[in-house]
Amino acid sequence: MQTDVLVIGGGIAGLSAAAWISAGTDVIVVEAEKFLGYHTTGRSAALYTECYGEGPIRRLTIASREFLISHDSVTSPLPVLYVGGVEDADLLDEMYETFSPLVPTLERVSPASVAELCSALEPDTTSGGLYEPLAMEIDVDALQTLYLRTSRENGATILTNARVHTIERTGSSWTVHAGEHQIEASLIVNASGAWGDAVAEIAGVQPLGLTPLLRSVFTTSSPMPNTGWPFVADARERWYFKPEGPNILGSAESEIPSPPCDARAPEIDIALGIERINEATTFSIRSVNNTWAGLRTFTPDRVPAIGYDLDHDGFFWLVGQGGYGIMTSPAIGELASSLILTGTVPQRLLELGFIRGSVAPERLRP
Ligand SMILES: Cc1cc2nc3c(=O)[nH]c(=O)nc-3n(C[C@H](O)[C@H](O)[C@H](O)COP(=O)(O)OP(=O)(O)OC[C@H]3O[C@@H](n4cnc5c(N)ncnc54)[C@H](O)[C@@H]3O)c2cc1C
Repeated sequence: MQTDVLVIGGGIAGLSAAAWISAGTDVIVVEAEKFLGYHTTGRSAALYTECYGEGPIRRLTIASREFLISHDSVTSPLPVLYVGGVEDADLLDEMYETFSPLVPTLERVSPASVAELCSALEPDTTSGGLYEPLAMEIDVDALQTLYLRTSRENGATILTNARVHTIERTGSSWTVHAGEHQIEASLIVNASGAWGDAVAEIAGVQPLGLTPLLRSVFTTSSPMPNTGWPFVADARERWYFKPEGPNILGSAESEIPSPPCDARAPEIDIALGIERINEATTFSIRSVNNTWAGLRTFTPDRVPAIGYDLDHDGFFWLVGQGGYGIMTSPAIGELASSLILTGTVPQRLLELGFIRGSVAPERLRP
């Protein structure tokens, strides 16, 4: 098989890039697993918040909003409430200073308002919070299906059960063996998530120092009626919970270093999440319905690496989306495509103050 662009990885990063790149050139996507989105993409909390992550992340998130809301049933409203403990008033003020310039609808709310917004929180346990009314929940399956459909309509080929095991440079192209397939490609897009450095090594490209960090999540029957609750997150990132119909989804927000693997939730981490949420709320959660874990993969500065490898033309990095890869996927897919097809950054991103060098892989090299 032959193609201009070979995307390695059929998670949200690879599929969003394929959706945009395939509008301009030939694309093949290879995914190691039987199912697309099997790893981190299928295990997220599915939140869209503009008050999370470093500056480039927040700009990529804001630039993604329009695409996400313009497609039926991809998003639904889900405000976020960041809650401070009794000692955290200064932290909340700092967060407000940092986030509000790009998010003018953000509100600094009082302890009484916190308790009004979520009846499981008591005013005397908090110094207040930040309320983000325009945050959203993302239907990750619907978004992934949208990227897949767009890619196929544009003529892209998507191969599953196709783990890349050899990559060789032959003249100005790459010869790649993926499952049973041999593919000649001019350009490789490395969108292999937690395996990003491993795939680079197969191609003889120096790794970037990616760190996969395991985070686990549980669901349980909501201990009290949760209608109208926001997504509630500790300002110090020690726990969060969100309403999910009659259930809640909770997490200790842990970051446990892990090799790339099919991640499983450690019991001790689930217990930690329950303990922290019980402590911060009026809940007394004792059992769970379901648990899972995924790998959030970070670069050393916690900003994704999007761009060509400096030493290997024809090798494009699309990794390090950390805990933000779903909500930033439209802007990241469009950015990757724009860099590959025209060598430019979309105007919309520039207008938000996005700087190309902030995601350039070479910033991570000594
Ligand atoms: C608990 C949790 C909560 C999260 N919450 C949110 C949230 O609320 N909002 C948000 O925006 N983000 C969230 N995230 C982060 C988000 O899920 C990730 O940033 C995103 O899914 C990363 O997508 P990806 O395509 O890079 O990785 P993946 O989905 O892991 O895809 C990479 C793919 O590459 C494939 N691959 C690897 N090696 C090879 C090979 N040799 N050959 C072929 N294929 C290969 C893998 O099989 C995998 O399918 C969360 C993550 C977790 C774990």
